Amino acid sequence: MKQRPLANSWPKEDVDPALRPTSFQDFVGQETGLKNLNVFIQAAFSRGEALDHVLLSGPPGLGKTTLAHLIAAECGSVFHATAGPIITKPGDLAALLTHLGPKDVLFIDEIHRLPVAVEELLYAAMEDYKLDILMGEGPHARSMQLTLPPFTLVGATTRSGLLSSPLRNRFGILMPLHFYAPKEMEALLFKASLKLNMTLSPEAQHQMAVCCRGTPRLALRLLRRVRDFAQVQGSRHITIELSSFALLEMGMTLTGLDPLDQRYLSLLGHHFKGGPTGLETLASAMSETKDTLEDIIEPYLMQQGLLQRTARGRLMTEKGWLILNAS
Ligand code: ADP
Repeated sequence: MKQRPLANSWPKEDVDPALRPTSFQDFVGQETGLKNLNVFIQAAFSRGEALDHVLLSGPPGLGKTTLAHLIAAECGSVFHATAGPIITKPGDLAALLTHLGPKDVLFIDEIHRLPVAVEELLYAAMEDYKLDILMGEGPHARSMQLTLPPFTLVGATTRSGLLSSPLRNRFGILMPLHFYAPKEMEALLFKASLKLNMTLSPEAQHQMAVCCRGTPRLALRLLRRVRDFAQVQGSRHITIELSSFALLEMGMTLTGLDPLDQRYLSLLGHHFKGGPTGLETLASAMSETKDTLEDIIEPYLMQQGLLQRTARGRLMTEKGWLILNAS
């Protein structure tokens, strides 16, 4: 069965290659994870081995794909990328694995969406660099084992909870990514504005940092929109007036909620009287998939303390009511 691509309110095409960090130094935030990763890379390098397999987890737009690229760059390895929903049968994975060179990095985005048969083939490949393939069909089928060069699998997932434990256990390095603090977002915006040859007023920088859901993809998108407005005015300086205008254009509130968050809170509050409301009910009321709610909307609302997941359903918190009533 063909799998549906993950619904995502911030499409990946939204990425500006010029703004992608090119080294670990250029990557803002996630300090503990990055520091450890650096140690593991140096240790693997000094032993002359491939880096252990890495699992990056966290909501969309936090830098998983970027980090996968950087891991390959820091290891001096060739980078290959694919995604769980694209690999529909074991033969697809076998074709990818047999093209890998020693110490290459294979990035599988949305790894929790791999079909079971493909996932099972991955176990021996990750653990022993062995690939068991079946040649032919029916009574004439023969099984053959290929030896693969040592490689590094970098898996990314928005839902580490959906990963089977045999697959998760085969990753030596687990790195959960967290929403970025306003200070980190300010540093990120500052660096990006330099790359775009723009300047940001301190007020605009602060406002953009707190209004972008702690998510670099959103902050960079906002920065590019603000740059457009500034450029049309013949200016290279971004003021608070410009950033406020662009935020409104994007439908963001000054408390940092995007239109999907606002619709979610409004439905839960006004329509379902604050809950508890089941995920399925909320998803159909919003005409969105359950995945969109669980992967994109709810992690941020919970991190902000606006929403609680209980056994009986989703529940608005006191802070959630405050934000909803103020909007
Ligand atoms: P994900 O794979 O988690 O959905 P991406 O790696 O595609 O996220 O990142 C989205 C955008 O944000 C990219 O343009 C990327 O360059 C930028 N970005 C993400 N994390 C950082 C960071 N820590 N520092 C600077 N830019 C970042």
